[in-house]
Amino acid sequence: MFDWLIVGAGFAGSVLAERLASQRGERVLVVDKRSHIGGNAYDRTDDNGLLIHQYGPHIFHTNAQSIVDHLSKFTAWRPYEHRVLAEVDGKLLPIPINLDTVNQLYGLSLKEDEVEAFFAAHAEPVEQIRTSEDVVVARVGRDLYEKFFRGYTRKQWGLDPSQLDKSVTARVPVRTNRDDRYFNDTFQMMPLHGYTRMFEKMLAHPDIHVLLQTDYADIRDVIPHRRVIYTGPVDEYFGYRYGRLPYRSLRFEHVSLDKEWHQPVAVVNYPQTQDYTRVTEYKHLTGQRHAMTALTYEYPSAEGDPYYPIPMETNAELYRRYDALARATPDVWFVGRLATYRYYNMDQVVGQALSTFQKIQQAVPMAGARAVAAAAG
Ligand code: FAD
Ligand code: UDP
Repeated sequence: MFDWLIVGAGFAGSVLAERLASQRGERVLVVDKRSHIGGNAYDRTDDNGLLIHQYGPHIFHTNAQSIVDHLSKFTAWRPYEHRVLAEVDGKLLPIPINLDTVNQLYGLSLKEDEVEAFFAAHAEPVEQIRTSEDVVVARVGRDLYEKFFRGYTRKQWGLDPSQLDKSVTARVPVRTNRDDRYFNDTFQMMPLHGYTRMFEKMLAHPDIHVLLQTDYADIRDVIPHRRVIYTGPVDEYFGYRYGRLPYRSLRFEHVSLDKEWHQPVAVVNYPQTQDYTRVTEYKHLTGQRHAMTALTYEYPSAEGDPYYPIPMETNAELYRRYDALARATPDVWFVGRLATYRYYNMDQVVGQALSTFQKIQQAVPMAGARAVAAAAG
């Protein structure tokens, strides 16, 4: 009998598996339908020995010291500040939009204290900022919005930014200085030996068993267990009772080239041209030295594995109905990006998993003799 059956070996499932086994001495079975651990953060070496991210570029960034401290039990880090260029009007320009973006795009030579006035002169008044269009045009105006955001967003989501919640494009800051880092966070780094290695360490506990290529539906009635942590899509858990929650998918095309470098930074975005949204060159992220280089092209798609919950009010409404079902389901805990239908970064999923663990600590008595052993050791 397992104390916990955990569905999904990504951040949500793996962080909780480790806590339950190491802090409560409980027996955990982790199942994942894929052939590997790590969920969407899974990385691997390709045929040429280059470390690549199977599901697109994953850069760790957070403001939370406690989350860094927790993950540092399982990995050392490589300092890395992410930089992205966007191909706009045939030029490669810094995104987030900053002073250099404006100067290079328009052939200007504005100073730091002048660019705010430039934005103000072009910004459109928006009474109530609700959508992903509003948030950009109200800050930098329509021309920058159309060049950098409208096309990319339509491609990525299959929707116009005016249909999406403001939180989507608000992920990308706007700057008036020359800071060209993609993220503002205090901590920006990569696991030194990759994500998969970090997950292997997290799951390397004698009370954690991992079963891959196993769908929850096939074993739920076969393997005895007391409680469940579910990190797959919440609508799937409930048999799509209220209809399907929309998730956006991607097709990843992995390519290796017989040359040392392909592009000047880790990611180049294509808001105006191409069917793919962005191209990633992993060596910039990993620091690996190699005579060859590995790239991933991301093609957005309506079909395929669910990767992104789609932030808009109608979907949030539908999710609330599933959330009510989830709350009324005893002995099952719903955690992670798919199970709580939130556009979460890795650090936010780790934070959610750790706070779920605290709730479990308060709500669920530890399993008998193991509780004594856990307390002692
Ligand atoms: P997942 O990683 O999706 O894990 C869920 C697991 O459950 C999957 O492995 C799935 O196979 C399994 N599963 C589902 N249903 C079943 C079932 N019925 N039976 C068995 N197993 C099942 N975050 C960042 O912080 N920085 C980034 O740079 C970043 N880049 C990203 C780029 C892309 C292209 C994508 C898609 C996401 C990115 N993220 C990034 C977000 C990050 O991937 C997620 O926050 C994180 O991986 C979510 O972890 P999770 O455990 O909630 O879900
Ligand atoms: N975005 C855009 N142009 C860009 C970069 C981002 O329009 O050059 C928009 C797009 O809608 C995207 C969102 O901002 O989905 C969030 O960007 P982020 O880089 O955070 O996306 P993710 O890495 O999660 O795919």
